[in-house]
Amino acid sequence: PRLCRMEATASAVRDDPSGARGEVLTRGPGGERVLVTGRLVFDSRPPRRLPPARTTLLQHFTGWFVRTGRPVFDPATADLMDFRTPQPARGLSFGYVLPLDPRTALVEYTEFSPAPLDTDGYRRALDHYTHDVLGIGPFDVTAREHGVIPMTDGRFPLRQGRSVYRIGTAGGATRPSTGYTFAAVQRQTRYIAGRLRSGRPLRVPAPYGRRARMMDAVLLRALDSGRVDGADFFDRLFRGVPGERLLRFMDGGSPPHEDLLIGLRTPVVPMLRTVVELPFRPRREHPAPPLAPSSTDTEESTP
Ligand SMILES: Cc1cc2nc3c(=O)[nH]c(=O)nc-3n(C[C@H](O)[C@H](O)[C@H](O)COP(=O)(O)OP(=O)(O)OC[C@H]3O[C@@H](n4cnc5c(N)ncnc54)[C@H](O)[C@@H]3O)c2cc1C
Repeated sequence: PRLCRMEATASAVRDDPSGARGEVLTRGPGGERVLVTGRLVFDSRPPRRLPPARTTLLQHFTGWFVRTGRPVFDPATADLMDFRTPQPARGLSFGYVLPLDPRTALVEYTEFSPAPLDTDGYRRALDHYTHDVLGIGPFDVTAREHGVIPMTDGRFPLRQGRSVYRIGTAGGATRPSTGYTFAAVQRQTRYIAGRLRSGRPLRVPAPYGRRARMMDAVLLRALDSGRVDGADFFDRLFRGVPGERLLRFMDGGSPPHEDLLIGLRTPVVPMLRTVVELPFRPRREHPAPPLAPSSTDTEESTP
C-alpha cells in the first residue's frame, strides 16, 4: 500500500538544495512537469558520457528474428560465439544463433570495436552470416533488435550526490570484457534491498572486484591493440576451460586459483606485455559514443 509507481521521463536527477534528499525532475506523457523527491534516489538511466578510460570499446549488435522455409535449427543448441564472421580491423566480431523452434531463431551479428556500423553495415553482415555462413535458405525477418553496450575500463561513479546512487550499467554493472550485466544488476539490487530492509546505512559496493576489473582492463587493451587475436583468444578459452568455470569467470565470481588457470589458457606473452604497459597509459575521454537507446522492433519483411 505504500508503493506508488509512476511512469515519466526524468530530465534531471540530483540532490535537493539541502543535500538531505534526492530529487527527480520528470515530464509526464502530457508534458506536465512533476518533481519527485525521496530520501534516496537510484538512477539507472543509460550514461550519456562514458568515464575516462585507458580502453573503450563498444559491443554493438543487430539481430533478426528469422522464420525459415524449412526446418534448419536445432532448438536444443544455442551458438553463442560463432567466429566464422569476417573479423574487423580492430576488435572482433561473431554471430550467434538462439533457436526457438526448428524454423525460428534469433540470429545476431555482434562486434566488439570502437564504433557502431550504420544500418546497411549490419544488414550486409547479417546477410553474409545467414546466407553464406549458416546457409539457412530463404527466410522472413519477423522482428529486429539492436543494442550498444559500453566495454570500458573507466570507473563509473556509484554516487551522484549524497542521496543519489547510480545502478545498473550506469553504475558499472556491465562486465567490461563481455558486456554481460544481468547477473551483476541482480546482485547489486538484492544487496541494496537487503541493506535498506535491515535499516543499516547504505554502502553500495562496486559490482566487480579489483581483480576482475584488472583482468578485464588487460583483455580490453590486448584486444584493442591487436596484440591478441580476439577470435583465437575466445576459441582457446572455450576449448580449454570447463564451461562452469568459464561462466563463473565471466560473471566475476571465480576464485584466484581459477583465474590463474584461465590466465594460463591465454596467449601469455602478449598478455604479460599488456600488463606491463597498462599502468603507463593515460585515461582519456571517449569521443561521445552513440549509446542510442537499444530497441526491439516487430515487423514482417524479407531481406
Ligand atoms: C538487446 C540486448 C540484449 C542483451 N542481452 C544481455 C544478456 O543476455 N545478458 C546480459 O547480462 N546483458 C545483456 N544485455 C545488456 C543489457 O544492457 C543489460 O543486461 C541490462 O538491460 C542493463 O540494465 P540496466 O538496468 O542498467 O539498463 P536498462 O535495462 O537499459 O534500463 C534503463 C531504463 O531506463 C529507462 N530510461 C532511460 N532514460 C530515461 C529517462 N530519461 N527517464 C526515465 N526512464 C528512462 C529506460 O526506458 C530503461 O527502462 C543486453 C542488452 C541488449 C540491448
